[in-house]
Amino acid sequence: MSQQVEFKPPNGYEYVLFLSFDLDVDSAEQYRGSDPVALSRGRFSVRRGVGKVLNVLYKYGLKTTFFVPGWVASTYPQIVKVLADDGHEIAAHGYIHERFDEFKDIYYEDQLFRRMIESIETFTNHKPIGFRAPYWRFSKNTLSLLFKHGFKYDSSLMDDEYPYIIEKNNYFLVELPVDWRLDDWPYLEYYRTLTPRELLDMWIDEIEYARQNHGYVSITMHPQCIGRGARINVLDKILRYAVETKAWIPQGRVLADYVLENLLGKQCC
Ligand SMILES: [Zn+2]
Repeated sequence: MSQQVEFKPPNGYEYVLFLSFDLDVDSAEQYRGSDPVALSRGRFSVRRGVGKVLNVLYKYGLKTTFFVPGWVASTYPQIVKVLADDGHEIAAHGYIHERFDEFKDIYYEDQLFRRMIESIETFTNHKPIGFRAPYWRFSKNTLSLLFKHGFKYDSSLMDDEYPYIIEKNNYFLVELPVDWRLDDWPYLEYYRTLTPRELLDMWIDEIEYARQNHGYVSITMHPQCIGRGARINVLDKILRYAVETKAWIPQGRVLADYVLENLLGKQCC
């Protein structure tokens, strides 16, 4: 059951920008058995993309959330360790970027959840408390498995413009909703319908709307996409605008705590 809550940013901030990165590397292409060129496109994130993203985040003093498939954590442990050691949150993103809506068997999906969690925990020394479904697709069992495995928040659903709380048997899961319009991938990589400059204009409009309505906006980026060439300037300009307009730019785990503590009146977990 979803609880209707009135979301407001913390005092001193005009709105919340949940900026997060999906570090897929070549997991989706490996899962599909893609060709070496497609694999190399994903690996760009490890060779160049993450470093360029971190340079921009460092410029603004930000520690953000990276959603990482378990297979990526075990295949590229150095890059995940760099992120974790630098204070960024490592959250879960499937094991090898599977499509969860294809899972019919809860036992199979439960085992995959265990493998995903164990891999992140092994390479970061922290059990992930945030989850984002690859392709933003759930099976009919995914939500109950998030409760079963003790996740604090999810960031996959698209049914609201504000964070909210899902309750089940007196357990609470924070939802940090997302939207395809606020994802770099379809516009710059998959359909390639916008230039980076057009994407920046659209995102600034969305941020401005959130600011004027004291709201929340979630922007998702992929280091292999936004880190390529001059596209990295989009990240820089988004953050410059957000800082100038008094955005709170928290990690997912910090935002989830805020939602629970302030909207549910509970001391979190
Ligand atoms: Zn992904």
